[in-house]
Amino acid sequence: MATHFPPGAPRPNTQQVPPPSNYFPGSQGNPNPNELTDNMQNLSINRPPPPMPGSGSRTPPPFAPSSQAFPLQGPSFGGPSTMSRPGPPPAALARPGGPPSVSQPTGFPSNSPLGRAIIPPVGQQPLGVRPAGLGALPAAPSGGFPVSGPVGGKAGAPFPGARPSAFGSPLPLGSGMPVPPPSGMLGGPVSSGPPMVGSGPFPRGPQYPPAVVTPQSPYSQPPAASFSQARPLSGSSPLTAPPGMAPPATFPGAPHNRPAVSGLPYGAPLQQVAPAAGVSGPMQPPIRYGMGPLPNQSMTTISPAMGQPGTSLPGPSKIDPNQIPRPGPSSRPIIYETRQGNQANSPPPATSDYIARDTGNCSPRYMRCTINQIPCTVDLLSTSGMQLALTVQPLALPHPSEEPIQVVDFGESGPVRCSRCKGYINPFMKFIDQGRKFICNLCGYTDETPRDYHCNLGPDGRRRDADERPELCRGSVEFVATKEYMVRDPMPAAYFFLIDVSMNAVQTGATAAACNAIQQVISDLPEGPRTFVGIATFDSTIHFFNLKRALQQPLMLIVPDVEDVYTPLETDVVVPLSECRQHLELLLESIPSMFQESKTPDSAFGAAVKAAFLAMKSTGGKLMVFQSVLPSVGVGALSSREAEGRANVSAGEKEAHKLLQPADKTLRTMAVEFAEYQVCVDLFITTQTYVDIASISVIPRTTGGQVYHYYPFSALSDPPKLYNDLRWNITRPQGFEAVMRVRCSQGIQVQEYSGNFCKRIPTDIDLPAIDCDKAIMVTLKHDDKLQDGAECAFQCALLYTTVYGERRIRITTLSLPCTNNLSNLFRSADLDSQFVCMLKQASGEIPSKALSLVKEEAINVCANTLYSYRKFCATVTSSGQLILPEALKLLPLYVLALTKSVGLRTDGRIDDRSFWINYVSPLSTPLAIPLVYPRMISVHDLDAKDNEGSVLPPPIPLSSEHISNEGVYFLENGDDGLLYVGDSVSSDILQKLFGVPSVAEIHSQYVLQLYDNPLSRKFNDVVNEIRRQRCSYLRLKLCKKGDPSGMLFLSYMVEDRTASGPSYVEFLVQVHRQIQLKMN
Ligand SMILES: [Zn+2]
Repeated sequence: MATHFPPGAPRPNTQQVPPPSNYFPGSQGNPNPNELTDNMQNLSINRPPPPMPGSGSRTPPPFAPSSQAFPLQGPSFGGPSTMSRPGPPPAALARPGGPPSVSQPTGFPSNSPLGRAIIPPVGQQPLGVRPAGLGALPAAPSGGFPVSGPVGGKAGAPFPGARPSAFGSPLPLGSGMPVPPPSGMLGGPVSSGPPMVGSGPFPRGPQYPPAVVTPQSPYSQPPAASFSQARPLSGSSPLTAPPGMAPPATFPGAPHNRPAVSGLPYGAPLQQVAPAAGVSGPMQPPIRYGMGPLPNQSMTTISPAMGQPGTSLPGPSKIDPNQIPRPGPSSRPIIYETRQGNQANSPPPATSDYIARDTGNCSPRYMRCTINQIPCTVDLLSTSGMQLALTVQPLALPHPSEEPIQVVDFGESGPVRCSRCKGYINPFMKFIDQGRKFICNLCGYTDETPRDYHCNLGPDGRRRDADERPELCRGSVEFVATKEYMVRDPMPAAYFFLIDVSMNAVQTGATAAACNAIQQVISDLPEGPRTFVGIATFDSTIHFFNLKRALQQPLMLIVPDVEDVYTPLETDVVVPLSECRQHLELLLESIPSMFQESKTPDSAFGAAVKAAFLAMKSTGGKLMVFQSVLPSVGVGALSSREAEGRANVSAGEKEAHKLLQPADKTLRTMAVEFAEYQVCVDLFITTQTYVDIASISVIPRTTGGQVYHYYPFSALSDPPKLYNDLRWNITRPQGFEAVMRVRCSQGIQVQEYSGNFCKRIPTDIDLPAIDCDKAIMVTLKHDDKLQDGAECAFQCALLYTTVYGERRIRITTLSLPCTNNLSNLFRSADLDSQFVCMLKQASGEIPSKALSLVKEEAINVCANTLYSYRKFCATVTSSGQLILPEALKLLPLYVLALTKSVGLRTDGRIDDRSFWINYVSPLSTPLAIPLVYPRMISVHDLDAKDNEGSVLPPPIPLSSEHISNEGVYFLENGDDGLLYVGDSVSSDILQKLFGVPSVAEIHSQYVLQLYDNPLSRKFNDVVNEIRRQRCSYLRLKLCKKGDPSGMLFLSYMVEDRTASGPSYVEFLVQVHRQIQLKMN
């Protein structure tokens, strides 16, 4: 069927499905938000869609074209069936196969309206969660412990004992159906999949968390409310810990939210979904953004003569703290068009709520530049003091109201490319000579248009078909890769779980928590014959398990030699999930007790990882390691360096940074080999001690993986987060065996890439895995002059394999104007991008320099930029004024916050700092500022405020002046959530929020609970909304005034003067003085 379409033609569905009407937030464009959400939930399931009509009931090769691309018989996988893949992900449906109209609905396993209630079977409550219904009961074990297991189960039982069900055990039917993805996020099918085609009203893939609607929790208390406004599931749900939403969807609680709809395997059909009333996100009419140039020289002036040259600095008291720049309240969602009038539009802040319309440039979610106009010369750039860099996040979650990226299949010839630089066809390539030739916007070369891609030009000089072809009118597009882009058949989805069973891991409950989490996510793995799994445990030796079906019991195979590692029975330890599901579940259940009596304190971590790698070597895949102690024996063993580190810190931190470097090259060498064989390693560190993250994190960083840190691990409060982190890790949109390259127009070239990847050749980076959360920073440099008024383009090409085995090339293109005018650079500066760039550079330098130097450099970059603006652009001449460019007026605040962050403070643990460095490495732009300047809100008065439809109240400046002893505050940075309780909070508020009348009675290992009162419900809503926005479950910690936890909280008050730095006002004075010194 594909042959009916000319090469390059958009897939039929993409054309037939009307453009999403839901560009507009709010009900008008999205009449049935719940439907959208439900749909997204469906998408989030890694489950092949039902067969497409017309394609034969079971044999789906819906897409002819791709079939060629993916040989069905994957030799290496011994493809069991004729098809090497389970059906195509829903996305695929949109492709040429079936009638579009049908495909959408059918494509999604219709799930039931999630959220619509229906009481979950009792007994399945997620850990820590109580159904609201129950919640109504004052309930909760006084300890605030989550109820584990069946209601009535032992409250507060230590986690280890809890059965998996404790975490929101999967409903019988559903475990497969995850909960609503956090926002739909989960992308389903996604996982890999980019949302592709079918721009139906239902975005396919994963959705951007903030998205929209969140399904109601089944147990919402106030029915009315619950239906009227989309609240996060969790919000209304009883879930405490496991909130439901967004990523939460994943949250343990989640499964419960899914009503067990009778009969239908996947729940009720979409059509039956009751419309919901509102959309949580965008409720107000959107504002158009970026219609014109930003206000030019607007600047913030801080006048009170601070720091006149020659005079002593005026005390901060002369400055009105209320006049200094602070982050504004979040605004209503806006619609942002990437280009208007054939000009690039500067994007809205990365942290704001916006809906991007790709009108030629890619959405800023996928790529943004530190400056939205490109300086023509290197001199101009250096004069500005700013950096030129891109942050690229090729699989970023779109907003649910955004049009999905379209998939284009050029057939056997593959996508049209420049024959010189190999750049991909994009909206900025210029067709000439009646369309017979085209000029590459990257290298300037003129190519012949392939015969079958020819099209006449219209009077405006554009191809007449430009608006119908996504690759000619969209900044983001995805091409079906041909064989040319494969060195082997696309790899299957292989997951190997490696669990620490050393004495400490077992005794702290970490082993049980890992087994429980894995057991629950098994159902979220992609279904079908192409999904492989394996499992092993380790202490001082390594224990593999033969999962072959023929065996009655999983057979343990011990590998005693941890110096020269091998893998037993390679073909029996990584097997198709469909053949071992029961064995696997049984095994996971029994592992904790199997090693209960273990007295082995040692860990052969390095050897175990190596052995697991050997088992996966032929396929590649994801290796998830659950580790609790310092690797002490076998290959890659480490010694405890922390004591040494402390000594050095106190001795003036001369060499402290060396503790942040890997101890030796052993693990690095191993990691490079893993990357070569497409094995990505994620580390879940559940520990009570130092584990030398600096050394072991080399493995995830080199293989496109991630480090998760649960320190000090709590068997009570951490398991829900561990489960949610693992689930999101598996269900989020992602791809395997990827290669990425950024190309730039002539005059600019890539200087360096930074992030989690392996680099073998200068131009490309290898990513054994990449997902929607991972960003890569790309620094740029001039190699020639650019022409004023011309445009300079950047194109990122990501070649990857979806979890369903499709090879794709995702192309994102951004074309920006070049300028010779310094003012234009300041006017178009992108604060978020500049800051994430500074953050990553500082983070990257911590292991090789003294902290004081790293701080100093960050401050200098800030001062140089502001000086340049002051000297060359500001119109005010009084030297007593600190003048800041409007676009960068918050830069000093964020730089100050950076110098006080966990990574740059001298008082932190070495492992905390190492983890911070690892967290920053792949960090996306929207999460950069919250990391150093967290969001703080007051909780005690939540029920007294009307936030105009927003779940979240306005944030409070991070200054202790704003903290009252009678108040309760919540602060979150995207990873941690700290709940601070003053020492004079009324017992009424305490009772409402914590179920106890005094601060002393609040359990320090905090688990969020839902009580039957408006304040508690609002607070749950807030936490769940934040989880959804951040795609992170957040590690909640309770902080009480007067004890160390309270000090921890106060250390985030970055506007205060503290041991780690000056107050915000003092810092402004300091920066101003630096600028004045330069001026003179
Ligand atoms: Zn070219």
